[in-house]
Amino acid sequence: MIKNVGTTEIKAKHRATCHCGAVVLELDLPDGIVDARRCDCSVCRRKGAIVASVALAGIKILAGEDVLRLYQFNTRTAKHYFCSRCGIYTHHQRRSNPDQYGFNVGCLEGVNPFDLGAVPTNDGVDHPADRS
Ligand SMILES: [Zn+2]
Repeated sequence: MIKNVGTTEIKAKHRATCHCGAVVLELDLPDGIVDARRCDCSVCRRKGAIVASVALAGIKILAGEDVLRLYQFNTRTAKHYFCSRCGIYTHHQRRSNPDQYGFNVGCLEGVNPFDLGAVPTNDGVDHPADRS
């Protein structure tokens, strides 16, 4: 778990926003940033975001529910949400663990994800849900 990024302390309830500010989320992060990672699946390799995990009950949409759009592909298990105004990916309901959301660490207020240093990459090509 990561409690500080650069000079920013990760709060137990930390806000995240898309780029244009239409979408505002409140994330429950009592343990800070958990399981920060990249993923090389077909969608993540294109968006390139560093993501971390939060419980499904741990995201409250404070603003912008009306501008959030849903993108699904392949098995349609994962739900990828993005702002329809600025195009920024904010969060997704995970396929490998549907009890969790992944969220875009770069959307956290005050957080520059490049301050995290090296972040592991999930094997999304050989997706955990496709392994027998
Ligand atoms: Zn936006």
